[in-house]
Amino acid sequence: MEDNFKFRGRRRILALNLKKKGIVNKQIIKSIKSIPRHLFVDPGLSEHAYFDKALPIKSNQTISQPFTVAFQTQLLNPVSGEKILEIGTGSGYQTSILCFLKVDVYTIERNHNLFRSTSKLFNKLNVNPVRFKYGDGYKGLLDDSPFDGIIITAGSPIVPEELLKQLKVGGRMVVPIGKETQVMTKITRISVNNFKKETFGNFKFVPMLEKKD
Ligand code: SAH
Repeated sequence: MEDNFKFRGRRRILALNLKKKGIVNKQIIKSIKSIPRHLFVDPGLSEHAYFDKALPIKSNQTISQPFTVAFQTQLLNPVSGEKILEIGTGSGYQTSILCFLKVDVYTIERNHNLFRSTSKLFNKLNVNPVRFKYGDGYKGLLDDSPFDGIIITAGSPIVPEELLKQLKVGGRMVVPIGKETQVMTKITRISVNNFKKETFGNFKFVPMLEKKD
């Protein structure tokens, strides 16, 4: 399955839709128009790839709704050249958006099945995160820290303390917090010991789980 005019047209409509819903960052809109989301889902679902909805991927996980991906990215506000850690690679769609924004992406996936298939997809599509690790995101990547930004794409019941430590001063974390439903939360490290917390409404994510699978 390759890209074609039909899918490109649908991406333009999706991008317009996201603009209407409040995505003002031009580079993010451009990334939505450019990245072939249909290649990140099972071929049987490609016709559904450009509706603004979450879809199932392998191992009982989901590719987030395009609005959610764009909204989290807009909150993170990554600037070209920054170092960003993503927790929950999943299909790799969010990773590709970040790579499109020319940031140095580090990404962690705990599920081995997804880790394997998404590694292959990255090779095929020439998506190049600096590092793609099979591991437990709660631990972060101490050796590669500190990060300008951390984006968590699974619902975390608590603020992951270890990850806060891996943020630069001035760095931000975007994390959906909660069990059944989650509150989108942005935490900015304003000094070594001080963090500012802002919230941005309710969302629904698959849970962030401990340990590898
Ligand atoms: N960003 C993904 C969203 C995938 S859903 C996308 O665009 O497709 C969330 C993902 O987080 C799942 O793949 C799940 O396996 C992964 N995950 C859950 N807990 C994790 C953890 N502790 N560490 C790393 N990945 C985790």
